[in-house]
Amino acid sequence: MFILERRHFNDILNHSINGLPNESCGLLGGIIDGDKKIVQKVYPLKNIDQSPEHFSMDTQEQFKVISDIRKNRWQLLANFHSHPSSPARPSEEDIRLAFDPGISYLILSLENCKSPVLKSFIIADKNVNLEELIVLE
Ligand SMILES: [Zn+2]
Repeated sequence: MFILERRHFNDILNHSINGLPNESCGLLGGIIDGDKKIVQKVYPLKNIDQSPEHFSMDTQEQFKVISDIRKNRWQLLANFHSHPSSPARPSEEDIRLAFDPGISYLILSLENCKSPVLKSFIIADKNVNLEELIVLE
């Protein structure tokens, strides 16, 4: 179960809107409590691909995030990226590049900009499983 607060959702949404027309990406740090992953912080990263169809994270930025997560004694819970004009499900490339079965892969679809859709997936051995996601109001 993946849990985030409305302000975290808004951080992801604002970063993704600011990045349009390209995909945006970032990382999420937080706490694992039993089967619950609870977000503490959203780390917006730049998409060095600057593409509307794929993304790559900047390695230096990733290192900084990981060190901040360690400093806070959190864990890397997930990465997220936006789909500016397609649904919130992993593309073939997303699946191919999902190397870590221990984290969640969040996708925010802005296909319908009036109602953005955020979904979380676990991807292991190319198998995609939807993960329950809760936004705390
Ligand atoms: Zn994607």
